[in-house]
Amino acid sequence: MKITIALDVDGVLARLHDEWLRRYNRDWDDNLQVEQITEWEIHKLVKPECGTHIYKYLDDTTIYDHVLPEKDAQEVVQRLRADGHRVVLATTSTPKSMGRKYAWAKHYGLVESTKDYIEVGDKGLLRADVLLDDYIGNLEAFKGWSVIYNQPWNKINHHTLGINLRAIAVTRVLTLSGFYDTLCRWLA
Ligand SMILES: [Mg+2]
Repeated sequence: MKITIALDVDGVLARLHDEWLRRYNRDWDDNLQVEQITEWEIHKLVKPECGTHIYKYLDDTTIYDHVLPEKDAQEVVQRLRADGHRVVLATTSTPKSMGRKYAWAKHYGLVESTKDYIEVGDKGLLRADVLLDDYIGNLEAFKGWSVIYNQPWNKINHHTLGINLRAIAVTRVLTLSGFYDTLCRWLA
């Protein structure tokens, strides 16, 4: 069975937080580590004087000059395509950073053309069979198979987001190769 697979970029295929926190720590004299980002609303974890300014870093498209792909990203995307599946990247951008992640994905061989790339603010509108994402809110909105990519910020606090995890069928994967193996089991 050949399916359509939507893959999130930030926090899934792209190790955005490494560079995001590097810039934050440099500018605000802090030492915040990725493992310490235990909730989605990162502005609550940075220094109060920084606060929501943390999101301004995402408007600076040079951040993607330094963002590296997640482990096995290229290999897993290539294997899924070689298996005959339709693989698209589905990402939410800030207005100022729109388009930048296409160039990033192209550079790392994760897309072949713009047909493989969607910028979408509401992932509930995606028409794909599977969505792999690190934000539980996106997975709640999505209508197909929802797979959560394990990250420190999606392990707890679903209740504070007003999300009822039991209302949606969510599978958790720890790695991209683990995602590939899960899909293979489902489709066997
Ligand atoms: Mg994400």
